[in-house]
Amino acid sequence: MPAEPRSDGRIVIVGASLAGLRAAETLRDEGFRGELTLVGEEPHPPYDRPPLTKQVLLGRVRADDVGLPRRRAVEAHWKLGVRASGLDPDGKKVLLANGEHLPFDRLLIATGTRARPWPDADAARLDGVFTVRTRDDASRLAERFDAGPRRVLVIGAGFTGSEIASVCRERGIEVTVAERGPAPLVGALGGALGTFAARLQRAHGVDLRCGVTVTALKGDGGRLTGAEFSDGSRIDADVAVIALGAVRNTEWLADSGLAAGPRGVACDAGCRAFDMYGIVTDDIFVAGDVARFPHPLFEYQMLSLEHWGNAVAQAEVAAHNMISAGPHRRPHLAVPVFWSSQFGLNIKSVGVPTFSDQVVLAQGSPEEGRLVAVYGYRGRVTAAVSVNRAKWLEHYRRMIETAAPFPPGPGAADGPEPAAPVPSDVPDPKVLSHGPTVALTGHLPDRRLTLVRPGG
Ligand SMILES: Cc1cc2nc3c(=O)[nH]c(=O)nc-3n(C[C@H](O)[C@H](O)[C@H](O)COP(=O)(O)OP(=O)(O)OC[C@H]3O[C@@H](n4cnc5c(N)ncnc54)[C@H](O)[C@@H]3O)c2cc1C
Repeated sequence: MPAEPRSDGRIVIVGASLAGLRAAETLRDEGFRGELTLVGEEPHPPYDRPPLTKQVLLGRVRADDVGLPRRRAVEAHWKLGVRASGLDPDGKKVLLANGEHLPFDRLLIATGTRARPWPDADAARLDGVFTVRTRDDASRLAERFDAGPRRVLVIGAGFTGSEIASVCRERGIEVTVAERGPAPLVGALGGALGTFAARLQRAHGVDLRCGVTVTALKGDGGRLTGAEFSDGSRIDADVAVIALGAVRNTEWLADSGLAAGPRGVACDAGCRAFDMYGIVTDDIFVAGDVARFPHPLFEYQMLSLEHWGNAVAQAEVAAHNMISAGPHRRPHLAVPVFWSSQFGLNIKSVGVPTFSDQVVLAQGSPEEGRLVAVYGYRGRVTAAVSVNRAKWLEHYRRMIETAAPFPPGPGAADGPEPAAPVPSDVPDPKVLSHGPTVALTGHLPDRRLTLVRPGG
């Protein structure tokens, strides 16, 4: 007999942002009638982050005008401005920093990421040093840009750093970008498009310094005055934006027994969290930037994405599965999609560019400022990135979904002779970015894992 759908009971969602809101809406859309509680550390109702490093920093939209549009009314208890500090999975309770315990029948973890801070805490406190993850961060930085800084230093040339550098140039502000890798965006898009991005930044007047690290931020009287670089050079700057990537918000789960660590909370393709033994839990789900999940199209590799579209699609699947009996559960199979706007260009990607060994320029050219680069892995198409040519991405999405052969046939290319593929030059996924998080110990067959804490 098929199991009954689970439309009653208590659901708690921790993380009241994009994934949390879309999950709550889906739960009500699909007939969940029980008690719903959303817990969010930020005091604000859910808002949209992509405009923060675009329209908000440009001064075109105010930071308090980026609230997420609601798809429907959600009857729920909103606990905003309070952090979840722990999880008791056996007792089925979320512990809040204000001492409250929230009982649940099913839980969704949607705590996303935060900006990686500057490693020297004293220097990070200097007036003029910023990160951008929240609307409050963006509001403070926009004010500083309004005041007309003499020079901004952006540390890190990933998407966030590059967008901030672009805003500076559009506002006529002098900007230096320091990037440890050989070019901007290499970590996400590989070497070929990185070279294009470097040329673009320099053509727009960015003082781009690659292959260097910032060794110290300097201050005087509590204010930032400049920075020193690993090549011995230094600059004067009154604003520094730390754009060194994101840290996943998993610390509150440290004693929960879940597979939670620096790469996120591991879950199955149906968004159910794994415990630390890799066994799937039944009532704890994960969605959005904090999730780490296997994707069949990418050899079941565990993906950790920081993509708006993924947060929405995964939240919808998680919510559906939270109230559906086993055979009616769905896998999260959406092909990842990401976009960015910088230096007057609209960059869009579909698939996973880092899951590649080769790339081919299928359409346009860097000189035209319009192109499509197609990525392949072992002879099949795995990703495509467009610059001002987004309409083609649907075509390539289908190729990715059907594991079409790489390089793609001439039909997709501009000219009669498609360009020759070159190495995609993406970071080697085998290079460890974190130390071990668990170790096998002891003799009891069902209890042989211990958590290895960073620095522990
Ligand atoms: C500046 C910026 C620009 C971006 N631009 C783009 C773009 O152009 N294109 C694109 O595809 N994506 C972009 N993104 C990424 C996109 O915004 C994210 O993928 C999306 O916000 C993920 O949603 P989420 O709900 O999973 O996590 P988040 O939005 O990170 O939300 C998690 C929420 O959980 C809360 N939280 C954390 N820990 C706790 C706790 N212990 N207790 C309670 N609450 C907690 C946090 O305060 C936060 O509000 C951008 C992100 C940023 C920051």
